[in-house]
Amino acid sequence: MKPIEHIAARPADLGDGLTVHRALPNRQRRMVGAWCFLDHAGPVDFPAGRGLHVGAHPHIGLQTFTWLIEGEVMHRDSLGNEQIIRPGQVNLMTAGRGIAHSEDSLADGRRLHAAQLWIALPEADVACAPAFEHLPNPPCWDEAGARLTLLAGRYGPHTAPGSFHSPLLGMDLHSLSGARLELQLDAAFEYALLPLEGAVAIGGEPCPPHELAYVGAGNTALALDLAAGGRALLVGGEPFAKPVEIWWNFVGFDKAEIARARGQWERGEPRFGPVGDGSGRRLVAPPLPWASA
Ligand code: MN
Repeated sequence: MKPIEHIAARPADLGDGLTVHRALPNRQRRMVGAWCFLDHAGPVDFPAGRGLHVGAHPHIGLQTFTWLIEGEVMHRDSLGNEQIIRPGQVNLMTAGRGIAHSEDSLADGRRLHAAQLWIALPEADVACAPAFEHLPNPPCWDEAGARLTLLAGRYGPHTAPGSFHSPLLGMDLHSLSGARLELQLDAAFEYALLPLEGAVAIGGEPCPPHELAYVGAGNTALALDLAAGGRALLVGGEPFAKPVEIWWNFVGFDKAEIARARGQWERGEPRFGPVGDGSGRRLVAPPLPWASA
């Protein structure tokens, strides 16, 4: 195994008193497989009257992937879906050519612990039809003192539900009393591990909180130690064929397409329909960081 790259996640302010740790993208690693964005929210106890409230905003060229560990969050989107996500569940939203959504804590002043990731769509699917899947029962099983939950992809005899567009893996690893795991890896995949709670180590090497441990490709096994109460998120995938542009809530291969999507959102064009009855808060796109054509 090559040396582990420890990459600090940076704090990002989502507003209303919620700071998340953004592990992807970062200067050293833009992506891990198709995973191109990774926010770790909490665990946090919101003060009374506060919670997660992200107003309506658009996406293109990606899938948003929400893994909820604690709390309850309402998802609403421009396809008309209204879905509460609860602990142990996954929401997978495919933006493709365009979708808008909002996310709101169900009860303010409560606990939240979640990971939100984005998956870049490959060039052939970047403008596919938008879709939303609620996945209430991802496969989980116990192994060597830990609970393994397969969030995306395949592991041994297990296959996660959900529509994915490139070979990838997402797995939650949690132990109440401490565990040493021998995980099987696919040598064709690159992998990274993000500690979510408690003490976590790879091959005896500590993986500090709020640092992404990038282990790269070419490995067939990973020795993982979880202390009592330890939890980590393993992501992996085939290295992505082509670098993507990521700006605001848009992913793609073409800056002009991203600029077009920004304008269409700002003008309220039908590419992005209303979320719910359209009366909720709507996020405003920042100015483009490059000169538009
Ligand atoms: Mn979003």
